[in-house]
Amino acid sequence: MPDFNRARFPMTIANAPAEAADGAWAATHNPATNTVLAEVPSAGLADVDAAVRAARAAFDGGEWSRLSGQKRTRLMFKLADLLGTHFGALAELETRNCGKAVGAARGELQQGIGELEFFAGAATKIAGETNAAPFGFLNYTLREPLGVCALIVPWNYPLLLTLRKLAPALAAGNSVVLKPASATPLTALVLAELAVEAGFPSGTINVITGSGRLVGDALARHPGVDKVSFTGSTEVGHEIVAAASHDFRRVSLELGGKSPSLVFADADLASAVPSAVWAIYYSAGQSCEARSRIFVERPIYDAFVEAFVAATGKLVVGDPLDRATHVGALISPAHQATVEGYIAAGVAEGARVACGGRRPDGLDAGNFLMPTALVDAHNDMRVAREEIFGPVATIIPFDSEKEAVAAANASIYGLAASVWTRDVGRAHRVAGAIRSGVVTVNQPFTVFPGTPFGGYKQSGWGREASLDALRDFTELKSVLVYTGGRPLDPFGVGS
Ligand code: NAD
Repeated sequence: MPDFNRARFPMTIANAPAEAADGAWAATHNPATNTVLAEVPSAGLADVDAAVRAARAAFDGGEWSRLSGQKRTRLMFKLADLLGTHFGALAELETRNCGKAVGAARGELQQGIGELEFFAGAATKIAGETNAAPFGFLNYTLREPLGVCALIVPWNYPLLLTLRKLAPALAAGNSVVLKPASATPLTALVLAELAVEAGFPSGTINVITGSGRLVGDALARHPGVDKVSFTGSTEVGHEIVAAASHDFRRVSLELGGKSPSLVFADADLASAVPSAVWAIYYSAGQSCEARSRIFVERPIYDAFVEAFVAATGKLVVGDPLDRATHVGALISPAHQATVEGYIAAGVAEGARVACGGRRPDGLDAGNFLMPTALVDAHNDMRVAREEIFGPVATIIPFDSEKEAVAAANASIYGLAASVWTRDVGRAHRVAGAIRSGVVTVNQPFTVFPGTPFGGYKQSGWGREASLDALRDFTELKSVLVYTGGRPLDPFGVGS
């Protein structure tokens, strides 16, 4: 039974608790109070090397990589069951470390367990194909595990995104070195302990903690790593690609977004308004798929803004551990200052603050900001172009479907988009025209266990949460067999 209230949480390397080789520890904080929550090892290059070696030995030893799919399935379900056993404590730990509302942390853990179970089931269904080949030849393909996978995760959905990467990597037979974000390492460290308890072979799941610049970079460059699966900012995504490029190791990327909602005049506002509120303010807007640009057809613009501001006013901002809270804390004081800087920049460019824009009364200790709507905005403003990653919606009017689609697509990102209309033809037309990896129609949810999630353009490479992710964690081998009866003599030099 893990102790969720420890002062220090060690790493896990080769199924054993591990401190940093040089004995360094770093504090991790509670964003709702900005007090120290616990300490975790501040790993260095020697620790990265030890973790990769453990994963390599595990992979080459074959205790996991050559285990039958059925046995992998059983162990993955066992881990899912253990997550369920500690559900409440894990969600609370996530909340204390990440600052998000506990209701959100519980929902995300439920989703993460769902994805683990989805891929546990898929482990027995990994199969190749037979292909057409000339007479006398047989071709079949094998899906083999890649080897050692480095999984690098951001701070906004720590446990969900860990499970989203871990589950397909394990199902395919890989061993992993996981690096959680330095701000939110605790639930990943507990997850590794639960994996040991579940009975995963030594070295299959290793977790190391430390800074991205040092540990993340060293992991992405380590010659013992076969694939880097990264979720984080587009800026760091560029660095990951550069680090992994010299020996062409596999890379998948889940990056930033500036996702739009398109609300047409015929939309059912009883759904569209509360859903648009949820789609931006969930997780205090610290969400890659936050629909932060809301385009509204001009005849209903004023009514939409009025209803949006009224619904936003009902959100409870505050103690993340209170089940009634909708919007918790931002991750750090520095991040809060960045978000407030964006609001000021929007106002300086001519937008008007329709609600929020300031710290809520009585919440001075943590990093709290009221859900903010910037109206009378346009798509060229910085607040409409750059990822703010905070509770800030920019609401922009449009006059035609063509204009709305062009504005939605005028972004370096292409992660998610939501369309609100009662016109079935338009819904499908716009879904087809939007350049993003996910389009939601008359509902705000972007991913369930088994549905593909990922981005176009600078929002990333590859897809997660679906069978596409499983394929991305395998190598494809083509086996060509001669089945003819006569001796083969391509040069004509035989007897
Ligand atoms: P980040 O890029 O700063 O960090 C992500 C991870 O990379 C962390 O573990 C960090 O320690 C590590 N890292 C930092 N520098 C590194 C380097 N040079 N080499 C290797 N690793 C390094 O991102 P963040 O601030 O933690 O998270 C927010 C970003 O993540 C946002 O841009 C958000 O849109 C994106 N995100 C995307 C998705 C998605 O699925 N597309 C999901 C969640 C978050």
